[in-house]
Amino acid sequence: MADYASVIHDNADYLTDLDRQIGDADHGSNMERGMKAVSALSASDFTEANAYLKKAGMTLVSTVGGASGPLYGTFLLRFAAALPSGSEVSGAALGAAFRAGLEGIVQRGKASVGDKTMVDALTPAVDALDAAVASGASEAEALAAAAQACAEGRDATIPLVARKGRASYLGERSADHQDPGATSVTMLLESAARTLA
Ligand code: ADP
Ligand code: MG
Repeated sequence: MADYASVIHDNADYLTDLDRQIGDADHGSNMERGMKAVSALSASDFTEANAYLKKAGMTLVSTVGGASGPLYGTFLLRFAAALPSGSEVSGAALGAAFRAGLEGIVQRGKASVGDKTMVDALTPAVDALDAAVASGASEAEALAAAAQACAEGRDATIPLVARKGRASYLGERSADHQDPGATSVTMLLESAARTLA
Protein backbone atom coordinates (compact mmCIF):
# COMPACT_ATOMS: atom_id res chain seq x y z
CA MET A 1 0.00 0.00 0.00
CA ALA A 2 2.87 2.39 0.79
CA ASP A 3 4.54 1.69 -2.55
CA TYR A 4 1.23 2.06 -4.39
CA ALA A 5 0.44 5.35 -2.63
CA SER A 6 3.78 6.74 -3.76
CA VAL A 7 3.27 5.54 -7.37
CA ILE A 8 -0.23 7.06 -7.41
CA HIS A 9 1.15 10.33 -6.05
CA ASP A 10 3.80 10.42 -8.79
CA ASN A 11 1.29 9.53 -11.53
CA ALA A 12 -1.78 11.48 -10.39
CA ASP A 13 -1.52 14.01 -13.22
CA TYR A 14 -1.01 11.26 -15.79
CA LEU A 15 -4.10 9.35 -14.57
CA THR A 16 -6.15 12.53 -14.53
CA ASP A 17 -5.02 13.34 -18.09
CA LEU A 18 -6.17 9.89 -19.25
CA ASP A 19 -9.52 10.51 -17.54
CA ARG A 20 -9.73 13.98 -19.13
CA GLN A 21 -9.80 12.34 -22.56
CA ILE A 22 -12.68 9.93 -21.94
CA GLY A 23 -14.10 10.89 -18.53
CA ASP A 24 -14.22 13.80 -16.13
CA ALA A 25 -10.53 14.38 -15.34
CA ASP A 26 -10.58 13.18 -11.75
CA HIS A 27 -9.14 9.65 -11.69
CA GLY A 28 -5.70 10.76 -10.52
CA SER A 29 -7.04 13.09 -7.86
CA ASN A 30 -9.57 10.46 -6.72
CA MET A 31 -6.90 7.81 -6.33
CA GLU A 32 -4.42 10.19 -4.75
CA ARG A 33 -6.94 11.30 -2.13
CA GLY A 34 -7.79 7.68 -1.30
CA MET A 35 -4.23 6.41 -1.13
CA LYS A 36 -3.16 9.39 0.95
CA ALA A 37 -5.81 8.40 3.50
CA VAL A 38 -4.64 4.77 3.35
CA SER A 39 -1.05 5.94 3.91
CA ALA A 40 -2.19 7.73 7.06
CA LEU A 41 -3.25 4.38 8.57
CA SER A 42 -0.56 2.97 10.77
CA ALA A 43 0.19 -0.57 9.59
CA SER A 44 1.77 -1.30 12.97
CA ASP A 45 -1.68 -0.93 14.59
CA PHE A 46 -2.65 -4.18 12.86
CA THR A 47 -1.30 -7.62 13.67
CA GLU A 48 -2.73 -9.25 10.53
CA ALA A 49 -2.44 -8.20 6.88
CA ASN A 50 -6.11 -9.00 6.32
CA ALA A 51 -7.27 -6.65 9.11
CA TYR A 52 -5.08 -3.86 7.72
CA LEU A 53 -6.30 -4.37 4.15
CA LYS A 54 -9.94 -4.44 5.31
CA LYS A 55 -9.41 -1.04 6.93
CA ALA A 56 -7.64 0.19 3.78
CA GLY A 57 -10.63 -0.91 1.68
CA MET A 58 -13.08 0.85 3.98
CA THR A 59 -10.88 3.95 3.81
CA LEU A 60 -10.99 3.97 0.00
CA VAL A 61 -14.77 3.56 -0.05
CA SER A 62 -15.22 6.46 2.36
CA THR A 63 -12.67 8.89 0.88
CA VAL A 64 -12.89 8.40 -2.88
CA GLY A 65 -15.84 9.74 -4.77
CA GLY A 66 -16.49 8.44 -8.25
CA ALA A 67 -16.72 4.92 -9.55
CA SER A 68 -13.20 3.95 -8.63
CA GLY A 69 -13.54 4.37 -4.84
CA PRO A 70 -16.21 1.72 -4.30
CA LEU A 71 -14.57 -0.53 -6.90
CA TYR A 72 -11.06 -0.41 -5.40
CA GLY A 73 -12.58 -0.48 -1.91
CA THR A 74 -14.56 -3.61 -2.76
CA PHE A 75 -11.44 -5.16 -4.29
CA LEU A 76 -9.49 -4.68 -1.06
CA LEU A 77 -12.37 -5.76 1.21
CA ARG A 78 -12.85 -9.00 -0.74
CA PHE A 79 -9.09 -9.52 -1.05
CA ALA A 80 -8.74 -9.11 2.72
CA ALA A 81 -11.64 -11.43 3.49
CA ALA A 82 -10.08 -14.16 1.33
CA LEU A 83 -6.57 -13.75 2.74
CA PRO A 84 -5.73 -16.30 5.43
CA SER A 85 -4.53 -15.16 8.84
CA GLY A 86 -0.90 -15.55 9.74
CA SER A 87 2.32 -14.13 8.47
CA GLU A 88 2.84 -16.44 5.50
CA VAL A 89 0.60 -16.60 2.46
CA SER A 90 1.12 -19.19 -0.28
CA GLY A 91 1.00 -18.28 -3.96
CA ALA A 92 -2.26 -20.20 -4.30
CA ALA A 93 -3.84 -18.26 -1.42
CA LEU A 94 -2.62 -15.00 -2.91
CA GLY A 95 -4.16 -15.99 -6.26
CA ALA A 96 -7.45 -16.80 -4.52
CA ALA A 97 -7.42 -13.40 -2.79
CA PHE A 98 -6.81 -11.56 -6.07
CA ARG A 99 -9.60 -13.62 -7.67
CA ALA A 100 -12.00 -12.73 -4.85
CA GLY A 101 -11.13 -9.05 -5.27
CA LEU A 102 -11.74 -9.19 -9.02
CA GLU A 103 -15.08 -10.94 -8.45
CA GLY A 104 -16.07 -8.15 -6.06
CA ILE A 105 -15.34 -5.53 -8.73
CA VAL A 106 -17.35 -7.46 -11.32
CA GLN A 107 -20.25 -7.97 -8.93
CA ARG A 108 -20.32 -4.30 -8.05
CA GLY A 109 -19.63 -2.73 -11.46
CA LYS A 110 -21.14 -5.41 -13.74
CA ALA A 111 -18.38 -4.95 -16.32
CA SER A 112 -17.16 -7.79 -18.52
CA VAL A 113 -13.84 -8.13 -20.31
CA GLY A 114 -14.01 -5.91 -23.40
CA ASP A 115 -16.06 -3.12 -21.78
CA LYS A 116 -12.92 -0.93 -21.47
CA THR A 117 -12.52 -0.84 -17.68
CA MET A 118 -10.07 -1.99 -15.01
CA VAL A 119 -11.64 -5.44 -15.39
CA ASP A 120 -9.88 -5.76 -18.79
CA ALA A 121 -6.50 -5.52 -17.08
CA LEU A 122 -7.22 -7.30 -13.79
CA THR A 123 -8.84 -10.39 -15.34
CA PRO A 124 -5.81 -11.52 -17.39
CA ALA A 125 -3.58 -10.58 -14.43
CA VAL A 126 -5.42 -12.93 -12.06
CA ASP A 127 -5.51 -15.67 -14.72
CA ALA A 128 -1.74 -15.31 -15.23
CA LEU A 129 -1.12 -15.41 -11.47
CA ASP A 130 -3.12 -18.62 -11.11
CA ALA A 131 -1.48 -20.21 -14.16
CA ALA A 132 2.01 -19.38 -12.92
CA VAL A 133 1.31 -20.77 -9.44
CA ALA A 134 -0.22 -23.93 -10.96
CA SER A 135 2.89 -24.46 -13.08
CA GLY A 136 5.13 -24.29 -10.00
CA ALA A 137 6.39 -20.72 -10.30
CA SER A 138 7.54 -18.91 -7.16
CA GLU A 139 5.33 -16.18 -5.67
CA ALA A 140 7.73 -13.58 -7.10
CA GLU A 141 7.57 -15.08 -10.60
CA ALA A 142 3.78 -15.41 -10.41
CA LEU A 143 3.34 -11.77 -9.39
CA ALA A 144 5.69 -10.63 -12.15
CA ALA A 145 3.65 -12.64 -14.69
CA ALA A 146 0.45 -11.10 -13.30
CA ALA A 147 1.83 -7.56 -13.61
CA GLN A 148 2.93 -8.26 -17.20
CA ALA A 149 -0.49 -9.65 -18.16
CA CYS A 150 -2.15 -6.67 -16.47
CA ALA A 151 -0.09 -4.25 -18.58
CA GLU A 152 -1.08 -6.14 -21.73
CA GLY A 153 -4.75 -5.97 -20.71
CA ARG A 154 -4.35 -2.24 -20.04
CA ASP A 155 -2.85 -1.70 -23.50
CA ALA A 156 -5.65 -3.75 -25.05
CA THR A 157 -8.20 -1.20 -23.75
CA ILE A 158 -6.87 1.44 -26.19
CA PRO A 159 -8.88 0.47 -29.30
CA LEU A 160 -12.02 -0.48 -27.37
CA VAL A 161 -15.31 1.42 -27.28
CA ALA A 162 -16.37 1.82 -23.64
CA ARG A 163 -19.54 0.07 -22.49
CA LYS A 164 -19.33 0.86 -18.76
CA GLY A 165 -18.61 3.96 -16.70
CA ARG A 166 -18.50 7.57 -17.80
CA ALA A 167 -16.43 6.79 -20.90
CA SER A 168 -19.43 4.89 -22.30
CA TYR A 169 -21.26 8.23 -22.68
CA LEU A 170 -18.78 9.04 -25.47
CA GLY A 171 -19.71 5.99 -27.55
CA GLU A 172 -17.35 5.50 -30.50
CA ARG A 173 -15.31 8.54 -29.46
CA SER A 174 -14.00 6.58 -26.47
CA ALA A 175 -11.87 4.44 -28.82
CA ASP A 176 -8.14 5.15 -29.21
CA HIS A 177 -7.73 6.09 -25.55
CA GLN A 178 -6.23 4.05 -22.72
CA ASP A 179 -8.62 3.39 -19.86
CA PRO A 180 -7.58 5.22 -16.67
CA GLY A 181 -8.74 2.50 -14.27
CA ALA A 182 -6.95 -0.22 -16.25
CA THR A 183 -3.86 1.99 -15.96
CA SER A 184 -4.10 2.47 -12.18
CA VAL A 185 -4.82 -1.20 -11.52
CA THR A 186 -1.70 -2.13 -13.50
CA MET A 187 0.25 0.15 -11.17
CA LEU A 188 -1.25 -1.82 -8.25
CA LEU A 189 -0.10 -5.15 -9.70
CA GLU A 190 3.34 -3.68 -10.42
CA SER A 191 3.55 -2.46 -6.80
CA ALA A 192 2.55 -5.91 -5.56
CA ALA A 193 5.14 -7.59 -7.79
CA ARG A 194 7.82 -5.15 -6.67
CA THR A 195 7.17 -5.30 -2.94
CA LEU A 196 5.67 -8.73 -2.16
CA ALA A 197 8.36 -10.51 -4.14
P1 ADP B 1 -15.60 8.31 -12.31
O1 ADP B 1 -15.76 7.56 -13.61
O2 ADP B 1 -16.79 8.19 -11.44
O3 ADP B 1 -15.15 9.72 -12.53
P2 ADP B 1 -12.87 7.55 -11.81
O4 ADP B 1 -12.53 8.56 -12.84
O5 ADP B 1 -12.11 7.65 -10.53
O6 ADP B 1 -14.42 7.54 -11.50
O7 ADP B 1 -12.60 6.09 -12.37
C1 ADP B 1 -12.83 5.76 -13.73
C2 ADP B 1 -12.43 4.33 -13.97
O8 ADP B 1 -13.28 3.45 -13.23
C3 ADP B 1 -12.57 3.89 -15.41
O9 ADP B 1 -11.40 4.18 -16.15
C4 ADP B 1 -12.84 2.40 -15.32
O10 ADP B 1 -11.64 1.63 -15.37
C5 ADP B 1 -13.43 2.24 -13.94
N1 ADP B 1 -14.85 1.92 -14.03
C6 ADP B 1 -15.87 2.77 -14.21
N2 ADP B 1 -17.04 2.11 -14.20
C7 ADP B 1 -16.75 0.79 -14.00
C8 ADP B 1 -17.50 -0.41 -13.87
N3 ADP B 1 -18.83 -0.40 -13.95
N4 ADP B 1 -16.83 -1.57 -13.67
C9 ADP B 1 -15.49 -1.58 -13.57
N5 ADP B 1 -14.71 -0.49 -13.67
C10 ADP B 1 -15.33 0.68 -13.89
MG1 MG C 1 -13.40 10.22 -13.54
